[in-house]
This record gives sequence, structure tokens and C-alpha cells, in this order.
Amino acid sequence: MLYSEVAATYEAMEATTKRLELTQLLADLIVKTPNELVDKVIYLTQGKIHPDFMGIEIGLADRSVMRAIAFTSGHSLKEIEKKYYHFGDIGSVAEDLLQNKGQITLFSEQLTIERVHDVLDRIAKASGLGSLGLRLRLLNRLLADASPKEAKYILRTATGKLRLGIADYTVLDALALAFTNDKGNRPKIERAYNLSGDLGLVANNLALNGLKKIEKFHIKLGHPIRPMLAERLDSGKAILEKMGGTAALEYKLDGERVQISCDSHKFWIFSRRLENITSQYPDLVELSKSNLKGKEYVVEGEVVAIDINTGAYLPFQELMHRRRKHGVEKAVNDYPVSINFFDILFLNGKDLTGLPYQKRRNILVDIVKDDARVNIVPSKVATTVEEIEEFMASAITDGCEGLVVKDQKSVYRAGAREFAWIKLKREYNGEITDSLDLIVVGAFHGRGRRKGKYGAFLLASYDPVNNDFRTVCKVGTGFSDENLIKFFNILIPIKIPNKPNNVVSKIDADVWFNPQVVIEVMGSEITLSSVHTVAMDTVRKGNGLALRFPKFMGRIRSDKGVSDSTSNTELLKMYKRQKKLISKHSDNTH
Ligand code: ATP
Repeated sequence: MLYSEVAATYEAMEATTKRLELTQLLADLIVKTPNELVDKVIYLTQGKIHPDFMGIEIGLADRSVMRAIAFTSGHSLKEIEKKYYHFGDIGSVAEDLLQNKGQITLFSEQLTIERVHDVLDRIAKASGLGSLGLRLRLLNRLLADASPKEAKYILRTATGKLRLGIADYTVLDALALAFTNDKGNRPKIERAYNLSGDLGLVANNLALNGLKKIEKFHIKLGHPIRPMLAERLDSGKAILEKMGGTAALEYKLDGERVQISCDSHKFWIFSRRLENITSQYPDLVELSKSNLKGKEYVVEGEVVAIDINTGAYLPFQELMHRRRKHGVEKAVNDYPVSINFFDILFLNGKDLTGLPYQKRRNILVDIVKDDARVNIVPSKVATTVEEIEEFMASAITDGCEGLVVKDQKSVYRAGAREFAWIKLKREYNGEITDSLDLIVVGAFHGRGRRKGKYGAFLLASYDPVNNDFRTVCKVGTGFSDENLIKFFNILIPIKIPNKPNNVVSKIDADVWFNPQVVIEVMGSEITLSSVHTVAMDTVRKGNGLALRFPKFMGRIRSDKGVSDSTSNTELLKMYKRQKKLISKHSDNTH
């Protein structure tokens, strides 16, 4: 199949942000694609060459790519830099220069999907010290045969900037449409995705074996299972009612969620975002080897930084020192961690996700040997509000954020946020006590002490139905000088177009960013707002929702992607819950 077909679809995708249209365009492309290539088309369309958990990224820098364009187009680096300054996007620079160069040579060979994927894969795998020359030579050869439009998309992919706005949901809908002609089949396909974290693999299975086989999809060791997530409620009473009078309470530890997959002697550690973080935690591999019984397993737990002398939990920020590629050994010594298991999903050939929580927990207790660094998360079965309050108090005293309350009868629902798990953070009394994870979409220039940096940020939440980002608040408090420097360095404004198409905002920021960075903020309440656009027209016509008095909590949630941020529906629920609490409060006082 020719890459030009893919490039033409990308161009059409760029012209819309409407999810239905994007889904249809992708479904049409999948239908045209030979079955054995569907996985590659899916990866490429999401700007990747492999699923994220494989950790293979092309990641060429724009600056290096300029050299390849100079070679292919015959223009000087200076000219290219000037164009780059104008367009702000390396893909558009190549398209423009190659267009001016005129017709491609007669000897050029039309690019196929296989070739583009294969060369990008080789470029990615050739990464490392001294490999840049080889990578650029590979890229040059590809560009020599590319049309201007193809060059644009190849370069955006090679620099990690192909942002077509194709979310996982859109791919799942498109697969259902393309292979079964019925979006209603999406849950069956989604189940396989939840168990493998690999859309390409699922697409490939569907294309080659059909829907019947997909329904029998099994967990694969070494592939991350999408995490089960918790809903929020504001009181022990509400939780007990929801769970039918009895519930299992667990400490909510404040660390990093990990999933450890073991196949005999091979280990993989996955983050909450399904990235492969095995190399950051060699100590967890050793601890799993020594403290877990079983040849094959998938377990989940929270890694927490600890004080090695007292064993006390340390704040989440300490774990940031472990997010590094080099000097891991030293970091392992300087920043010791404990692993606190809370679930088991697979053991010795058996998928345990269909077992009720209490059975899984019993199996976990059976296979884990506790010691100073390896624990099972403290738990307790409760039937009264007092028991919940008491356990909450000890969780807080022990340095936890609160509790995760679990329905004892519930199976493990991969990828779902439901009331089978409910998080409870201290007491709610009409004010928000839980933080929100919001996406930075824009910024405002700083004044006074913040001159030369950003002074405030425009935050948004992701709307999966409309596939766009809608503003929630402007935040300027809670930032240390160090934070401000960091934000200035990591948030690079986009140049063209001014505001990304997929950001819905009534506020004009000074600079705009591609929605990527998720930060944790706290606010006093959620109010109706004519300025902010999240959940627009849902509660009242002409009004969205806004977070009042937002404050940055000091944490960039690099463990979360934009689709893991606090969603518009969660905000709406929080708004409604808060309204109920406020009216209850005023009832009590009158
Ligand atoms: P948060 O932002 O509150 O960490 P989240 O969006 O990452 O939440 P939720 O499902 O809302 O995920 O909350 C559960 C999270 O709490 C898990 O992802 C995990 O990192 C953490 N956690 C800590 N202790 C537990 C526990 N005992 N059981 C399950 N999750 C736990």
C-alpha cells in the first residue's frame, strides 16, 4: 500500500477536529489497508511506530532534521532556519521547500507503508551515541523518494510531532466500524485493548482472525494491562451505601502505580500510563524475584519512596529522582523505595481478573513474602462509618492520602473507572479536598518578579466525546521560582496556528501549547462560568464550569497522559456533588 494514501487521509484529518469525522476517515483508511498492515497504519496514525510500552521512539530533533532537508532540497541551513522560524513546524518547512523544488526525479520510487515504517523503525533503533549520521542517511533516502506532502508527515512523525488528535477511543470506534460495520461492537474490541495495551496488536488480530477470536483474547505477559481506576465519593456513609453495607478499605499510598509482569526470569515494569519503566526500578525486579512466589504473574502495587532508617513513607516528589536514564544505580541507593502490592491479575497461566477482589487479595497474600521493602497494602473490611473513619485516621497518620475502598465482590475491570473502587480523601465539607489533574494549554507572560517567564497558565480538561480540550481555570498561585523556570523550559509555545484547533477557549492566552503537560491543582469550588468552556451548556445555557481559586500543588503529573486528566464528566460530577453538600449544609444550619 502506498504511503501517499495515508498522507492524503492525514491531510483530511487535519482539516477537522470532529470526532465522528475523524473516526470515519480512519475507518475508511483501515478498510483500504491490507490486513497484515493494519497494525502499522494504526501506529503511524497515532504518531508512533510501536506501542508506547515498547519504549521505541524515533525522537529526532528538529535541528538534526534540518540537515536532512538541506541535503534533499538543496537549500542552505540558513534558509531552512528562516523558514522554520516562519512556520514553526519542520514538516511544513520540508513541504514548502520540496514543493518549490518542483517535480521529484524520474528515478524515485513511490513510498510504501512498509518502507516508511521499516525505515522509521531502523532510525529509532539506531539511536544512541554516534548514530546520528546513520539516522540522517536513512532519513535522506526516504525523503529523496517522498512527495512534498509525504515529506511533511514523515518528518512530523520522525520528530514526534504528528498530532492528528486520534485518541485511543477513536481508533477503537474506527476498528469496530471498519471490521464489523457496527460501532456497537467496540466494547468487545476494547476488552482486548484493555488486556494488552496495544491497539496495533488488537487491530491485527481483528483483521486476521475476526471478532469471534478477539472475544477470546488473553492476557499476554510483557504487555501492560490497562489499570482499573477509582471513582470518588465524599463520605464513608455514601460509600457504604454504594457498596451494599460492607467494603474493603485499603490505604491510598502516595507514590507511583506500577504493574509488574513476570514470565519465568523475564520482568517488565509498567507505569500507570503503560510505559515500560523497568530500567528505572532494577531494585523492584530483585525484590520481586526474592519475595514473590510464582513462575508467571502480573501484580500491581504502589512504589513509595521511604526513609531507609525508619521505613516511613516519603512524599511522592522523592520518586522523581528515579525518573532517569543514567545513574540509575546511584539513584537506587540514594532514593530507596518500598513496593506495596494491592492486586494480582495473573498467576501461573491463569487469568485472575474475573475473580472477586477478596479472592484475588487472598492469592496475593499467599504469594507475597513481606519484609521492610515489600508489603501488601494495609486493608480492613468495614461495615460501619466509624470503622472507615478510624482507618482513614490511621492512613493519614501513616502519611497516606486517604483510602481506596473496594467492593469485595468486584472483578478486576481493566481500563474502567467505576464505583467498584472508590477513593476517599479526608473529609469533604462542601469544599473540594481532592486535587484535579489538568492540562496546560496556554500561558500569560509574567510581570514584575516573573518577567521573562510565564506568570500564569491556562488549564483545560480533555473532552473525549468531542475530542478536544476545554478550559477550566487560569492558575498563577502555588509556583516556586524553580517551578517557573522549569515550566518555561518545558513548555514550548507553538507558532502556527496560534491556538491549536482542538483547544476550545474564550480566553486569549499570550502563548499556546500543544496539550501535553498535566499538572495537579487544587481549588476551593467548582462554579458556573461564562468564560470557561468545559461542560459548556450542560448545566446552564451559555455557561461552562470553572475551578475557583486554583493553586498549583507542586506536581507535574508525568505519570498521566492527557486522556488520564480529570475529565469534563468528573468535573460535572464534582459540581453536582458539591451542590448537594452545600444544600445539605444549609439545611442543617437552618
Ligand atoms: P490519583 O490522581 O488520585 O492518584 P489516579 O487518577 O491516578 O488518581 P485513581 O483510580 O483515581 O487513579 O486512584 C487510584 C490511584 O491511587 C491508583 O492509580 C494508584 O496509583 C493509587 N493507589 C494508592 N494506593 C492504592 C490502593 N491501595 N489501591 C489502588 N490504587 C492505589
